[in-house]
Amino acid sequence: MQASVVSAKDLCLTYQTNDGPVHALSDVNLDVRKGDFVSFIGPSGCGKTTFLRVIADLEKKTSGEITVNGMTPDDARKARAYGYVFQAPALYPWRTIEKNIALPLEIMSYAADDQKKRIAEALDLVNLSGFEKKFPWQLSGGMQQRASIARALAFDADLLLMDEPFGALDEIVRDHLNEELLKLWARTNKTICFVTHSIPEAVYLSTKIVVMSPRPGRVTDVIDSTLPAERPLGIRETPEFLKIAHRVREGLRAGHSYEE
Ligand code: ADP
Ligand code: MG
Repeated sequence: MQASVVSAKDLCLTYQTNDGPVHALSDVNLDVRKGDFVSFIGPSGCGKTTFLRVIADLEKKTSGEITVNGMTPDDARKARAYGYVFQAPALYPWRTIEKNIALPLEIMSYAADDQKKRIAEALDLVNLSGFEKKFPWQLSGGMQQRASIARALAFDADLLLMDEPFGALDEIVRDHLNEELLKLWARTNKTICFVTHSIPEAVYLSTKIVVMSPRPGRVTDVIDSTLPAERPLGIRETPEFLKIAHRVREGLRAGHSYEE
């Protein structure tokens, strides 16, 4: 049995707002194992981002249990347990690609030659070698998002948290990046927690799909993928793929309220 990278037991998070409490996460139970590729899918407001932020220690749970690499999120953050990729690339326009990737390494006081080595490795992993001296605005949207993935990889953390990283990209670019991400995952043996709105993206990428529903944010289904590790894009037309996609859709429909 593989070790638990993220383990949540009866995890709840309630935001206190001027309009009263918002139950962003309610009794979430989940086990993410080493090497898993887990997608979180569900409508806007079901707590996907909140869950990633709890793992990353950017939000505090209200009750229940959560461990990251067997530690509290606070200790895991201090041990640099994860890299975080945001929805928008969030690159500084006045810094070159290599300087953007270097920024967190600078903050953590990595030695200059270590920084250089890590930047080169991370750029190689996302196929951006040769673009180190470019500025973000000289790159396409897809390349910018690859650069922000490289930045998250530079620590070489075993866990990668990705919040709708390809949501703003057109479908062809997204297909390509999905393929690349699977290759990167296979090459690096990382554990990935990936948020998406897209059923095909979730099914194509994941070993495990977590279907969520809002008000209160909760997990309605957890699907272990039966697809093989080797996944050419054409796998999306196979009966096995469509069967899993159907189950995700049913899960989303079951959790959906049409009241508003
Ligand atoms: P998702 O990423 O699935 O769209 P979020 O995790 O961003 O959902 O949000 C879940 C719920 O919590 C939503 O109702 C959202 O409005 C609310 N929420 C998120 N962040 C905050 C916050 N900082 N303060 C108050 N409410 C918040
Ligand atoms: Mg979100």
